[in-house]
Amino acid sequence: MNLQRVEELVRELLVEIGEDPEREGLARTPQRVAEAYQYLTSGYRADLNEIVNNAVFESHANNMIISRDIELYSLCEHHILPFFGVCHIGYVAQERVIGLSKLSRIVDFYARRLQIQERLTQEIAQEIMNVTNAEGVGVVIEARHMCMMMRGVEKQHSIMTTSSVLGSFRREVATRSEFLELLARNPKFVQGL
Ligand code: ZN
Repeated sequence: MNLQRVEELVRELLVEIGEDPEREGLARTPQRVAEAYQYLTSGYRADLNEIVNNAVFESHANNMIISRDIELYSLCEHHILPFFGVCHIGYVAQERVIGLSKLSRIVDFYARRLQIQERLTQEIAQEIMNVTNAEGVGVVIEARHMCMMMRGVEKQHSIMTTSSVLGSFRREVATRSEFLELLARNPKFVQGL
């Protein structure tokens, strides 16, 4: 990312919204914003192989592995405003399992770019499927969208829930139900599916 070019664009944006980019409080703002965007969109430039490498282990256990409440911060592609919440991941391994910390790295990889919540949910599920060759994968994201909360659409308290189920989670009602029941025990899982 060309930080200098982004700084110029932020300076122009400040002028267009009626600000004075020369005033003291804003002097370093273009630089800070450029650096923030570099971080918040680092998913475009990160290498997923590097992220998951060395953290996939052989395992023939066939039970459901669940990781709940993975913190999630992303930017909506319609307004470039944050949406944030939690991601719950479940999968049934058949050959390989992945380190728990790597699940949140996968979440960050897809969250740190311009997104819509539905696609983010699908991409995370598909990636876990690709990396582990699991029997099935389920991903649920619950998030609040600043573009809805800040712009007075009167949805300040609404939480959007999206889900993506693959493999046995899609085919088998019992597997999907087990996943959802385990999530329902979590107080943060409010809406259900
Ligand atoms: Zn939006």
